[in-house]
Amino acid sequence: MMERRNTVQQEIVAQTLREMHDHPTADAVYIEICNKHSTISRATVFRILNRMAEEGRILRVSNSSGADRFDYNMEKHCHVRCKKCGRIGDVIMKKLPEPEKEIGCAYGYRITGHALLFEGICEECDKSVEGNDTDVAPC
Ligand SMILES: [Zn+2]
Ligand SMILES: [Zn+2]
Repeated sequence: MMERRNTVQQEIVAQTLREMHDHPTADAVYIEICNKHSTISRATVFRILNRMAEEGRILRVSNSSGADRFDYNMEKHCHVRCKKCGRIGDVIMKKLPEPEKEIGCAYGYRITGHALLFEGICEECDKSVEGNDTDVAPC
C-alpha cells in the first residue's frame, strides 16, 4: 500500500533527524539515510522534511546563507550560526523574549512563531584564525 510505504519512509526520516544533533540540511539527512536505507529518494526525503516542518513536527531553521536546516528539538530555543563554517548550534535561554502579542497588535498579524538567529564565529573557527590560513575549511 502506498499509504503504508509513506508512513515507513516518514518514520525513517524522523528517526534519522532525531539522531542528528547538528541541525542538518535536507541533503545531510538524505546522505545519512543513504548510508542505512538506500531505497528512499532525495526528493522523498525533501518532501517529508518539508511536510513535517509544515505540520510543526520538526523545526525549520532558516539560514540567511545556504540551505535551510532542520531540527528535531521542538523545545523553545534559539540558534547561533557560525559565519565561517555555517554550523548552527542551540542557544537555550532561561527567558526567551516573546513579543508575539505586541508585534501582532502593532502590525496586524496573527503571529504564529518567531525565529531568533545569533551570528558569530565558533570556537573552532576562532582558533584556526590564529593560523596562517584565512580560508577555513568547513567544520
Ligand atoms: Zn565555525
Ligand atoms: Zn536547534
